[in-house]
Order: sequence, then structure tokens, then C-alpha cells
Amino acid sequence: MLGEGIIKGLAETARNFVGSYVEADRLTTVQYPEERLPTKEAARNFPFLVFDGNDAQAGLRCVACQICEKECPPQCIYIEKSKDKKPDYVGKPQFYPKIFDIDISVCMSCQICVEVCPFEAIKMDTEFELSHTDRFDGLLFDKHQLAKSNEYYQKIHPAEAAEVDARLAAEKAKVEAKTKADAEAKAKAAAAKTAAPPPAPVPST
Ligand code: SF4
Ligand code: SF4
Repeated sequence: MLGEGIIKGLAETARNFVGSYVEADRLTTVQYPEERLPTKEAARNFPFLVFDGNDAQAGLRCVACQICEKECPPQCIYIEKSKDKKPDYVGKPQFYPKIFDIDISVCMSCQICVEVCPFEAIKMDTEFELSHTDRFDGLLFDKHQLAKSNEYYQKIHPAEAAEVDARLAAEKAKVEAKTKADAEAKAKAAAAKTAAPPPAPVPST
């Protein structure tokens, strides 16, 4: 029928118009910033550094390996490695970032830094209200601004964070089991050495 498509289109528009007043799933417009839609778990914006425990700097997982710095396509990460070391989550001494900066005005949110990090130390944030009147220093985030707790990570990406936590816990358990087995083997060897009889005296001729 001539004009059928137009009538269908107008009917759909009318349905959406009326539905937007009465059906919650059609209320697509919110009065931002007073009203906000919940952030989706898959949302990604700019990276942040994860820390464990209560001390944001001592608990940083980053070991300053600089892989993310090398792989970042627009080169917006700058890292300086520490001279000394601090224990990581399994107690192994590791370097840490003396300086870790990300220029958010250059970052293109590609997430490559997250994918290449072998230490689960850098993740994507969902924070988006970052506008600033100073487009240089105001958008250059240092390690203090970038550090966010593992609890925060669990809150914004629960499924992903649970997987990471399980992987790190399994790794930690493996290291602890090996350390315990090594200590037991060492103690056994020492005990065997103590219990061994002294060598027999050589008879004189
Ligand atoms: S998200 Fe991409 S552009 Fe941004 S810091 Fe990471 S690697 Fe660089
Ligand atoms: S965030 Fe990860 S990849 Fe980047 S320096 Fe730290 S440990 Fe290495």
C-alpha cells in the first residue's frame, strides 16, 4: 500500500512518545547531572593503578617494569623506576614506580596498557567527569591521583576483579606452598646431618 512505511514509522514514533511517559525502559533521557544512569560494567574510560591494603603507595601492584610505557600507542605514560625494592603481594622484593604519570589529554582509552601488564596492576576506570580548565597539568595524573583500591576495582568491574583476585590468590598459595616445602626439606637435611654418626677413626699401622 502506498505510504504504508510512513504510517508504520509514525506509529512507532507515537508509541515511543507515549511510552516515554509511562514505561521505565523507554525513559531514555535523564536530567544529568542531577539524575544519572548506572554505569555499565563494561564501561571503560582511562586507566588507574590498583593498590592492595590501606596504603595507596605501599600497596601499589605496579613493579615499574615499564612494559605499558613501551606499548602505549600515543606514548602518554611516563615511568621512573625506584632505586630500592619493596615486597609485592607474595612477599617478593620488587621495584616500584618512583614516578608514574599518565597524560589523560593524550590517552585514547585503547586499554593496551591493561592487556600487556603482567601484574594486574593497571585497569580501566569508569570515571568520566574529568574536565578541567588547565588542559596541561590538570590532565596529567601522577601516581597519587592514579592509585585506587582493589575494593574500588571490585565495585566498578565485579566479574573481572573476581577473576583477577582468584588468579592472584592461586599464585600466592602456590608460592607459599613452595616456600613451606623448601623450608621443610632444608630442616630435614639439617636434622639428617646432625643425626649422622661421626666418621670411624682410621686404624694406625
Ligand atoms: S589506554 Fe591506551 S592510550 Fe591510554 S594509557 Fe593505556 S595504552 Fe596508553
Ligand atoms: S602498570 Fe604493569 S606493565 Fe605498567 S609498569 Fe606497572 S607493572 Fe609494568
